[in-house]
Amino acid sequence: MVNQDKIRQAVTLLLEGIGEDPNRPGLVETPDRIAKMYEEIFSGMEQDAAEHLTKTFPVQDNAMVLEKDITFYSTCEHHLMPFFGCAHIAYVPDGCVVGLSKLARTVEVFARRAQLQEQMGAQIADALMQHLQPKGVMVMLEAEHLCMTMRGVKKPGSRTISVVTRGVFAQDAELRQNFMLTVQR
Ligand code: ZN
Repeated sequence: MVNQDKIRQAVTLLLEGIGEDPNRPGLVETPDRIAKMYEEIFSGMEQDAAEHLTKTFPVQDNAMVLEKDITFYSTCEHHLMPFFGCAHIAYVPDGCVVGLSKLARTVEVFARRAQLQEQMGAQIADALMQHLQPKGVMVMLEAEHLCMTMRGVKKPGSRTISVVTRGVFAQDAELRQNFMLTVQR
């Protein structure tokens, strides 16, 4: 549960830490604004992907389902700076599927936390494996990390790509290739 009081106190200290006057007119409401914003951007902490993945529909044909270009915004846990981009998610059903919007909702559950890109991909894949029990899952995330592009090595626009495979996608190179071709199309 987000504690808005603690966030307000911390932001006031942070402003003092960078040499600012937290009482000047432009900053006086900043701690409160950030506290409210954090409640939203870290709201995934209180959510469980099971809410979105337990209502399933039976299917006859177990062909790969792929949802691509799911936009997400998350926060890097090392720097508390945004990283954002898109997720591509595929699974091979084992007799049942979920509504397509539920994949995007699952991404939101894990994006709205203090997060690492690689960890987020693994959490999405594992939630799908656990709740939907498909034959396999593949998750690819492409994101720009402001902690890399705004400071440090400063390579604006560079993107980090991470891939996670589970089940049949881990075993079958042709299936992975199929995923890549469909994502790049
Ligand atoms: Zn970072």
